[in-house]
Amino acid sequence: MTNPDIAIPTRAPSLTSEDDTVLPFEVPALDLRGRVVRLGPAVDTILACHGYPAPVAKLLGEAVVLTVLLGSALKFEGRFILQTQTDGPVRMLVVDFTSPNQIRACARFDRDRVDAAVAADEASPGRLLGQGHLAMTIDRGPDMNRYQGLVALDGGDLEDAAHEYFVRSEQIPTRVKLTVAEELRPGSDGAGHRWRAGGILLQFLPKAAERMRGPDLDPGDAPEGVEPHELPEDEAWVEGRALVETVEDVELIDPAVSTEALLYRLFHERGVKVFKSAAVQAQCSCSREGVSAMLQSFSQDDRDHMIENGRISVTCEFCNATYDFKPDEVEAKA
Ligand SMILES: [Zn+2]
Repeated sequence: MTNPDIAIPTRAPSLTSEDDTVLPFEVPALDLRGRVVRLGPAVDTILACHGYPAPVAKLLGEAVVLTVLLGSALKFEGRFILQTQTDGPVRMLVVDFTSPNQIRACARFDRDRVDAAVAADEASPGRLLGQGHLAMTIDRGPDMNRYQGLVALDGGDLEDAAHEYFVRSEQIPTRVKLTVAEELRPGSDGAGHRWRAGGILLQFLPKAAERMRGPDLDPGDAPEGVEPHELPEDEAWVEGRALVETVEDVELIDPAVSTEALLYRLFHERGVKVFKSAAVQAQCSCSREGVSAMLQSFSQDDRDHMIENGRISVTCEFCNATYDFKPDEVEAKA
């Protein structure tokens, strides 16, 4: 999921943040690559349409940021789908990124358990998710193999799961930071809020062989007292990771701090190269034709069970659009 040949730098550094963009960057001196995402209207559109309780919305917002950080690296037509399945109050998060830039998301949760977690001050992301797994699927279309990566969710948050995934499955040292917050909506007299979100992904992708050494394999049943051989981490990665850990939430969501200014603060001593930024938008892929085709594929019996007041009505779980049909409009074609 790395993106080694993104185009050439093309624009002058902007002074303020550009919402709904992903900016890839590279720090050649340290063999680091990464992306910064900033979401304003896109994440607000997604979260506001659902009206979820705030901790659920925030968690889904983090999943959206992570999905954009990873999905925007796709270099072909396709979809990147991030999905959690866990036993906590938030049972499922689904975020769907369709190349080049469309994102949609929804959550399934148990409202009573979420309310109870909030009341008990136990609504951290790890508590809301609980135990289960995070799946990341790359779908290149009906004629292509799907790729799926899985990582356990074990009481940690989505950042923890992403770190674990990249180390175990791809052997790429990775740091991710995800931030979601509500801000006052201008002109709303203090009543209205809107969501903002941001994130940074940093990966260590050494070109030189001497930087690619990994630790030896686990010694297995080595005689007792033999210490596993551990190599120290590469200094370049230690430095990069330490720098990312200095990023404050506000730097990822404040419109007054541009992505370039943030990258300059982090990496100016080493030299940082930014590439062409890409736009992201909240857009669902559902359509009346698609829903109609799905209903036609159901059995007559299943369709009959869906009729209410003489109509069949289907609401998209991602965007809340409702499609309404007369039963004879969606009868299976002979
Ligand atoms: Zn939809």
